[in-house]
Amino acid sequence: MAMEVEIRVDRVRCIGAGQCVHVAPGVFDQDREAKAFVVDHRGEPEERIVHALTACPVQALTLHVDGTPVAADDLRDWALGARSDDPIVPLLERFSENHHELRTGLAALTATPSDDEAGRAEEMCSMTSTHLRDEEQAYSAITALVDPRLVDAFEGDHGQIDRALERLTAVRSDPDLRGRAMAALATIVDDHIRLEETVLFPLALAALARGRSRVESLPGGRA
Ligand code: SF4
Repeated sequence: MAMEVEIRVDRVRCIGAGQCVHVAPGVFDQDREAKAFVVDHRGEPEERIVHALTACPVQALTLHVDGTPVAADDLRDWALGARSDDPIVPLLERFSENHHELRTGLAALTATPSDDEAGRAEEMCSMTSTHLRDEEQAYSAITALVDPRLVDAFEGDHGQIDRALERLTAVRSDPDLRGRAMAALATIVDDHIRLEETVLFPLALAALARGRSRVESLPGGRA
């Protein structure tokens, strides 16, 4: 099961300005008092949800990922372009490049069956596993920057992806079952990546931009 995403509106704070509805109409609507309410927690891509959160002029919106609150204020510095020169920044950028590779590789495999599908599936499994292990090392550095419960949720999601990888390996010789397992893996990886790119990494980068420092070293022995 994918991580749970919930958006909460503080009706007392909400002044009915309507920016959230304008930015993410698939997620928000306004009632007769012009107060915002949520129609679909995942009704827009995560980028739009985060944009709506940071656009609210009175910080009336909070995102909860697996029950852990992410306040708009925690993302604002990053959303406004503040960056730090900490070594974790290029590392997270490298993960983002890997994300693109993983996403396109998995999507291509599910969309276009080929003679070498089993071989390519194995290659993607290996690439995904390596990526997960590299990220888990970086998570310990990120834990010092964001709510550790959030990092736990992402680590838990890695467990789900591991299980999807195991299922795929178990059925690799059966083309039908392999296709289904491949599609399930692609979905869970895509969901995980989107939340990482819009919530976890931006929170860590925003914390650094605000001057918070890491206490853990990075993978590869860097400070
Ligand atoms: S942007 Fe903020 S204040 Fe405006 S309607 Fe949405 S929640 Fe309310």
